[in-house]
Parts: sequence; structure tokens; C-alpha cells
Amino acid sequence: MVRKIAIYGKGGIGKSTTTQNTVAAMAHFHDKKVFIHGCDPKADSTRLILHGKQQVTMMDTLREKGEDECTPDKVIEVGFGGVKCVESGGPEPGVGCAGRGVITAITLMEQHGVYEDDLDFVFFDVLGDVVCGGFAMPVRDGKADEIYVVASGEMMALYAANNICKGMVKYAEQSGVRFGGIICNSRNVDGELDLLQEFCDKIGTQLIHFVPRDNIVQKAEFQKKAVVDYDDTCNQALEYKELARKIIENENLVIPTPMTMDELEELTSKYGFLD
Ligand code: ADP
Ligand code: MG
Repeated sequence: MVRKIAIYGKGGIGKSTTTQNTVAAMAHFHDKKVFIHGCDPKADSTRLILHGKQQVTMMDTLREKGEDECTPDKVIEVGFGGVKCVESGGPEPGVGCAGRGVITAITLMEQHGVYEDDLDFVFFDVLGDVVCGGFAMPVRDGKADEIYVVASGEMMALYAANNICKGMVKYAEQSGVRFGGIICNSRNVDGELDLLQEFCDKIGTQLIHFVPRDNIVQKAEFQKKAVVDYDDTCNQALEYKELARKIIENENLVIPTPMTMDELEELTSKYGFLD
């Protein structure tokens, strides 16, 4: 059975980078067949897998050519490790609703049966700092089985992570979606590991992996590559390999217990005084 995974988190936290690097490691080291569906109107969820190729988005295809032309062979590209990629794209800036584009794109891909097609995993790379039905759709309508949130020790990243928990709890019962854990994408904040660990304990989930901040991510990015594609022996490649393994083996799937704003502020201010 294919496992459908949604990756959420605050803008700029590293969702697209972490998703592509982890997926590349899944394919390269663990022999998994994976599909990435980018659900951000920025449409930058697949660049590293496709070596910089700007993918034609589903929304562009729908607008310019119509629904009959928006078929898997026109919008899916295959990149590093045999990873299949599609980008939802978005409306013309200032016109229309990006969330609706996500719904349309996922529904259309489902109708073509592409998520069932001999795969181990589908990853949805989704915006997490907007509270909008379209972006909530992967968890709301049972499109995803599991969600992971990328966070760091920065207040706004934790605030977004907690909000995403609040959002998914509403739909967990009816859609069956479960929380697989928090991925810490380190920003080298003081006490970050302990803060994230305590945050995870409070919201009733696991810190599935602590991904260090490492310049090799940028070096690979300049070459338009995932880290394991750039150098599969470096430490950061092994970190993504480890995160991939933990996701593959993860059985710790829960309905989380989000914190109140007061509790969250109490937690972060405790760490704010560390020096
Ligand atoms: P998001 O998809 O959440 O908006 P991105 O994945 O685009 O965020 O990440 C923003 C930037 O952060 C990327 O350009 C990337 O170079 C950098 N980045 C992400 N993770 C790491 C890391 N572990 N080490 C170094 N740089 C990172
Ligand atoms: Mg992104």
C-alpha cells in the first residue's frame, strides 16, 4: 500500500528542501518508489529532484490548455532516483484562490490514478502558515495518511507547528489522518534540541529527527541537486538517509494534543532566558 504523507511548516522553514532531500535519500539508499506533489503556489517543490528544470504547473496547463490536456504525461516529470514530480502551481498573482488550485490539482491526479501507480510513498509539500481550506485539504479530505511538521527552535516556527496540530485534530477522527512527528530543521538556536524535545512531549508526538544546519545543503542547491545526489558520503546525506529510514519504519502515529498560547509562550520564554 502506498503511504501518503503531507509535510507542513512555516514558510521558509525548509519544507521543500527537507522533503526533496529525504525523498532523494529514500530512493537512493532505501530503494523506494516515491512521488512528490508540490502544493505551494511558488512551485519550487521539485527543482532539486529535476536538476533545476522549471516544471510546467498543473494550474498553468489548466489555464492555457484546459482540463483535457492536463494529463499525467503532460505534467509529471521523472527525476533523480526515479522520483516522479508534479507541481500544482497557483493562480495568476492577485487573481483567484491558491488553495482552490491545490484541491483541483490533487483531485485531478487522483482521477488519473497516479497515486496508486506502483509507488511506496506520495509526499505532499504544503504551505503551513496559512489557515485555509485548500491547504488543509490533504489532511481534511483523507488525501494524506500521515503528516509531519518541519519546525525549528524559533518561536514562529513552533507557533505554526502548534497551529497545524490544532488544524489537523479537527479532521483526524473523520479522515483518519495521523501525526507522524516533528522534524527539527535546525536554525542553531540555543537549547534547540531540548526545546523541540519538550515541545514534542507536550503535544504528544515524537521528535522524529534533528536535521543539522549545514552549508552543503546550499552547495548542492547551487548545483541544483539534492545532497545525496551531490555527495552521498557526506554527513548531511547520512542525516537525510536516517530521517528517511525513520519515516519508512515509523509506527508512532498519533492524534496530537496542541498547546494553548499561554502554555506555548511559557515554554519558549523558559528557553529564551538560556545563555
Ligand atoms: P520552505 O519550503 O519551507 O518555504 P525551503 O525548503 O525553500 O523552505 O528552505 C529555505 C532555504 O533554507 C533553502 O533555500 C535552503 O537553502 C535552506 N535550508 C533548508 N534546510 C537547510 C539545512 N538543513 N541546512 C542549510 N540550509 C537549509
Ligand atoms: Mg517550499
